[in-house]
Amino acid sequence: MAEPLLQLEELTVHYPLRRGFLRRVVGAVRAVDGVSLELRRGETLGIVGETGCGKTTLGRAALRLVEPTSGRVRFDGTDLGAIGAAELRALRPRLQMIFQDPGASLNPRMTVGRAIAEPLEEHTGWPPARQAARVAELMEAVGLDRDLMGHYPAELSGGERQRVSIARALALEPALIVCDEPVAALDVSIRAQILALLEDLQARLGLSYLFISHDLGAVRHLADRVAVMYLGRIVELGPVDAAPAHPYTAALAASAPDPEDWRHPAPAEAPLSGDLPSPAAPPAGCAFASRCPEVMAACRVHAPALRAIAAGHRAACHLHDPEMRA
Ligand code: SF4
Repeated sequence: MAEPLLQLEELTVHYPLRRGFLRRVVGAVRAVDGVSLELRRGETLGIVGETGCGKTTLGRAALRLVEPTSGRVRFDGTDLGAIGAAELRALRPRLQMIFQDPGASLNPRMTVGRAIAEPLEEHTGWPPARQAARVAELMEAVGLDRDLMGHYPAELSGGERQRVSIARALALEPALIVCDEPVAALDVSIRAQILALLEDLQARLGLSYLFISHDLGAVRHLADRVAVMYLGRIVELGPVDAAPAHPYTAALAASAPDPEDWRHPAPAEAPLSGDLPSPAAPPAGCAFASRCPEVMAACRVHAPALRAIAAGHRAACHLHDPEMRA
């Protein structure tokens, strides 16, 4: 089998927790806690979980926009932590990100044409005519009217602004795009159009997506596999159409009004009672025990490992461990 495009090995991102007048470090927030996964070429891997589960930090660390505390990120065989700034800069065009709020990620003083041309100016020595031709080509690829080239972000709709962001991300022919909640801020009808556009671009350009979302419905529509995150860890990883094997995944699935109806967003929180533990002080045992409807005595003592439960399907739950259930 071909080497994966992206490999995360025991990736960990801890942020120092400071207190008091002297801002002394009193602990760490475990935003990402030992995540290992692979993204194949041309694949979409969905990363789902509630707000604050660490999925955005994971996406940023995968592009080395955030420095990991430990662990390794390998892109196309290159260890991103072992290369210098110049080598990383040379790789940047192949690693792109699309954000939830294109209004915030676009410069309000830059026209659409300038915004899309900016990566070309920065990374290519192309003359202006060639850049202009590429901008026109990209606008067409993402379904933007060329008449919008001289317009500013404030003059565009939310969907048009997201199309500009996607055109910018595509400018340098990336291999990997981290899509961080790219449709969460959009109206229902526009949401469907942007998901269809991402799907079409992937088929045409062979892109690989890390698709981050709180919404299992949108992920189900676009992704091949899905990784479910809870408190900085992967609790389930498997094919997108597999039945949920972890109680948390089951709760997320239940929160989508109609899991097949990917056009309508799910709420940002799963319908669970019980307290969400602090990522600065995760409990002993299973981190989901305080909210799990199937909790057993052993869950509060022993942390479940992510183990294979079927071909290509892993879950971190004692319900799948015959010894723990005995
Ligand atoms: Fe629930 Fe126990 Fe499984 Fe954790 S290990 S998800 S508490 S059943």
